[in-house]
Amino acid sequence: MVLGELSRRLTSAMSALTGSNIIDEKLLDAVLKEICSALLESDVNVKLVGNLRKSVKQKVNLKDLPAGVNKKRIVQKTVVDELIKLVDPKVEAYKPVKGKTNVIMFVGLQGSGKTTSCTKLALFYQKQGFKSCLVCADTFRAGAFDQLKQNATKARIPFYGSYTETDPVRISKEGVDKFKKEKFEIIIVDTSGRHRQEKELFAEMVQIQQAVKPHQTIMVLDASIGQAAESQSKAFKESSNFGAIIITKMDGHAKGGGAISAVAVTQTPIVFIGTGEHMHELERFSAQPFISKLLG
Ligand code: GDP
Repeated sequence: MVLGELSRRLTSAMSALTGSNIIDEKLLDAVLKEICSALLESDVNVKLVGNLRKSVKQKVNLKDLPAGVNKKRIVQKTVVDELIKLVDPKVEAYKPVKGKTNVIMFVGLQGSGKTTSCTKLALFYQKQGFKSCLVCADTFRAGAFDQLKQNATKARIPFYGSYTETDPVRISKEGVDKFKKEKFEIIIVDTSGRHRQEKELFAEMVQIQQAVKPHQTIMVLDASIGQAAESQSKAFKESSNFGAIIITKMDGHAKGGGAISAVAVTQTPIVFIGTGEHMHELERFSAQPFISKLLG
């Protein structure tokens, strides 16, 4: 179950609402208190949670509701709408076009699930009939190319990389040029992610971007990153200006709220979520069904 504990608590808060006969300010406050503490304990940014509470209170405005209206339904709908707003920046992500070259570059911290998600996405588009391939520009982590090669071979996806070339900019350029000539439609470039030397990582990322001119840059974020998600995604946004987010490890016990806050902080949509280690465990993300599922 995705975000199990958060889901359980939100569902319970909402059922306190449906189970009540009198919908007054006191009940609304109690329901909101439970929703907000569930969100906070899942690492959703404190400012976002505060805004949600204020917004619901303002929009519902129980005192001024005329007699006879279904107060329960109004409160429910307002809460759901505000939760959806948390994960929906109302920005359209890039959509690959058939018959054209679509270069997609991945960025993110080491261990976030970048290499795994690259293969998952290449496979996803391959299943949709796109001619897909992978380029490994991670020359920093020993074994990165082998990992990508192994994944790609298993998924029968053509790949490009090098054991000897140490310049990631050159590799990515060579790989993308080669696959462009061969009329590949989806070319996914995996870059290296590090914990240290951030400045260097960001400079390298920008150089690769300039070299391959991606149609889309996707940031990969581990669901368990917690409150650190905010500063991390801000830093990546400022340097790589990514246009979409993939949140990985949504199958685990992660609280996930930090990753959710990354959307609001960067005003960038989540496009997919990773729900397991296997290649097929990638789901398209859509705000409304996600929140419906979260509410049980
Ligand atoms: P990278 O360093 O960012 O390229 O990260 P990797 O792709 O090597 O992934 C790091 C670890 O996370 C590996 O053990 C993956 O199998 C695992 N992983 C990646 N995505 C998911 C996911 O959605 N769910 C789970 N459970 N594990 C994942």
